[in-house]
Amino acid sequence: MKLLSVVGTRPQIIKAAPIQRAIERWNRVAGATGIHAVVVDTGQHYDANLSGVMFDDLGLAAPGHRLDVGRQTGAAQLARMLTGLDEVIAIETPDLVLVYGDTTSTLAGALAARGRRVPLAHVEAGLRSFNPAMQEETNRVVADHLSDFRFCPTPTAVDNLRREGITSGVHLVDDVMEEALRMFLPVARRRGQALGRLGLDAGGFVLATLHRAETVDVRATLAGVVDGLSRLGHPVVWPCHPRTRARLDAFGLRLDAPIRLVEPLGYLDMLQLEDAAAAIATDSGGVQREAGWLGVPCLVLRDETEWLEMLDLGHLLTGTKADGIVAAFARLPLERRTVPASPGISASARIVEVLAGARAISARA
Ligand code: UDP
Repeated sequence: MKLLSVVGTRPQIIKAAPIQRAIERWNRVAGATGIHAVVVDTGQHYDANLSGVMFDDLGLAAPGHRLDVGRQTGAAQLARMLTGLDEVIAIETPDLVLVYGDTTSTLAGALAARGRRVPLAHVEAGLRSFNPAMQEETNRVVADHLSDFRFCPTPTAVDNLRREGITSGVHLVDDVMEEALRMFLPVARRRGQALGRLGLDAGGFVLATLHRAETVDVRATLAGVVDGLSRLGHPVVWPCHPRTRARLDAFGLRLDAPIRLVEPLGYLDMLQLEDAAAAIATDSGGVQREAGWLGVPCLVLRDETEWLEMLDLGHLLTGTKADGIVAAFARLPLERRTVPASPGISASARIVEVLAGARAISARA
């Protein structure tokens, strides 16, 4: 069976890593009847700090196809991806297209597969923010509704799909991001260099990330978050996404101590800093979950989250106003939660088992 895996952004490359390993394990047993996986990188994240370093850190083979869609506005980027993916599907004639998460690459992959009548699988299906203004929400809903296989990371995600009338092809499989973290955390603890390079002491800083359009594209919102972070009473280390850096520059927002902007980090360095932070403040889906799995106290710099389970672990939603962020931080217990020893996450093995078992799937009529 030939599987075409569509990645394009940093978190998608991370999600693809455990799946690639699971396919390799599967193929060692299945031999010639195994899964032939081809990766296509749309190039949605064209910055080397967000893409190339991820392939290296995660030990992923170079993608079979690169679309290099580069810097474009939303609709133009989607159009270029769709055309490129359509061509790749025509060349590769895969039995299945696999998309991850909720980005433009996810939407393009889903539409391209559908256009060529190739069965579709969605990893991280069923997540909902219930905020229709988020482009990511549209991307997820479309991918879920077009998919034949929907791999949900949480029972909440399964419930969300059920409420939308989707009950077939739904598989609850754990979270591939957690699996990646558990796979790479020991490596990050041994080989991570960010603490030393940046001269940081474990427990001596708050780690911040921000990249969502709703947080960074409006000056007043971004200025509010920056103001809030500067009033936490702790040094803040902020690996800054290129999109956010461009907005800070365009809005003329200057950042001084206690906020320290640094370049985006490779995955191992990022895990090392998350693991060492006194607290994390983020609008990222991945980073808030990683804080939860590491037991690190976390502020979610948004009005809502798709990851309700993380609120049960003590994460606080702050909104994006400075006073709300400062007040939430004052309520956040700064002790690290004890996390149970490795709970044996095997999302990727379950996904590969389901897909390999479905080799008989025939192209849509
Ligand atoms: N990440 C990273 N370097 C950074 C910031 C984040 O490796 O400088 C990792 C982070 O550990 C997590 C993933 O990128 O695994 C989250 O990606 P992002 O925040 O871009 O997207 P989201 O999870 O919100 O979709």
